[in-house]
Amino acid sequence: MSRVYNFSAGPSILPESVLKKAAAEMLDYEGCGQSVMEMSHRSKQFDKIIKDCEALLREIMNIPDNYKVLLLQGGCSSQFTMVPMNLMTKNGKADYVITGQWAKKAYQEAKRYGEVNVVASSEDKTFSYIPKLDKSTFTPDADYFYICMNNTIYGTVYHELPDTGDVPLVADISSCLMSEPIDVSKFGCLIAGAQKNLAPAGLTIVIIREDLIGNAMDITPTMFNYETHAKADSLYNTPPCYTIYIAKLVLEWIKNEIGGLDKMKELNEKKAKLLYNFLDSSKMFKGTVVPEDRSLMNVPFVTGDKDLDAKFVAEAAAAGFVNLKGHRSVGGMRASIYNAMPYEGVEKLVEFMKKFEAENA
Ligand SMILES: *Cc1c(COP(=O)(O)O)cnc(C)c1O
Repeated sequence: MSRVYNFSAGPSILPESVLKKAAAEMLDYEGCGQSVMEMSHRSKQFDKIIKDCEALLREIMNIPDNYKVLLLQGGCSSQFTMVPMNLMTKNGKADYVITGQWAKKAYQEAKRYGEVNVVASSEDKTFSYIPKLDKSTFTPDADYFYICMNNTIYGTVYHELPDTGDVPLVADISSCLMSEPIDVSKFGCLIAGAQKNLAPAGLTIVIIREDLIGNAMDITPTMFNYETHAKADSLYNTPPCYTIYIAKLVLEWIKNEIGGLDKMKELNEKKAKLLYNFLDSSKMFKGTVVPEDRSLMNVPFVTGDKDLDAKFVAEAAAAGFVNLKGHRSVGGMRASIYNAMPYEGVEKLVEFMKKFEAENA
């Protein structure tokens, strides 16, 4: 068996030890004679899995008691609707910062439900930076202020959060979930698709302050109302059982094998530094993001020559470094180096890039 180094932006690489554990438990989960895929979501085995998953999330992320953790379906894209339907209900206003396609999609959806103000955008330079924010442009009576924390496609991240005062901050953390510690108490609501850094596709995580639940618009479908899921402990209907089980295994890996989010951050910084340092020293490859806003998770880069980019992507794939093609809107390359990417994977990629540069100079 040979495994590739998978740099996909999502769904993405999972820790090998997790895959092995899942494989070992596939036919007979803890002696119950069935796999987690087959069991009832009302069974005592699954009840323990979902409770353990939530408890681990709370413990590792240090989530305060006055926040609910919801394990949902529908992808982060459904949250682009659920956030305004549930939160834009006091004054019918919200502020959005447009830092890429995901923020833009969220904004376009929110516009259907209320008065939405674009505070800033970095579209003028293909979203290669996080715009500086001017507090005087914020809507003082907005129901919430929305950001996309880590911009998966463009490789930017907020190193500093906007100061929104009493206005709840809502953040899409799909591609930086669990990559480093985060102070949950600074947010009203956090939303994330799990398929970037935590689990296979199918699970959407919402971490929301309790007082923001229960005010949804009348037209809100039952399944889109946070209250529905909060009241039912994420078991209103069938949850994505197997994905929740894998998320639990990944959380155990973070806690027991990595040693928590401080350690996770250290490892992620070490990996990212290796790649960025190489990009900064290379004559052929260049990072596309301004240095101060660079993401730890998604690293886009180009050679400046489309044919050379394509040659690189093809030769890299043949050498076992897969999914390095950049997003169609940016071109070039993108290496997503999520939690599960080992340091050695980045080391070998950099060696390969050096060799490619020497051969194609
Ligand atoms: C992938 C991604 C999304 C979309 O998630 P889906 O689960 O596919 O709907 C939204 N936001 C960010 C930041 C992402 O990386």
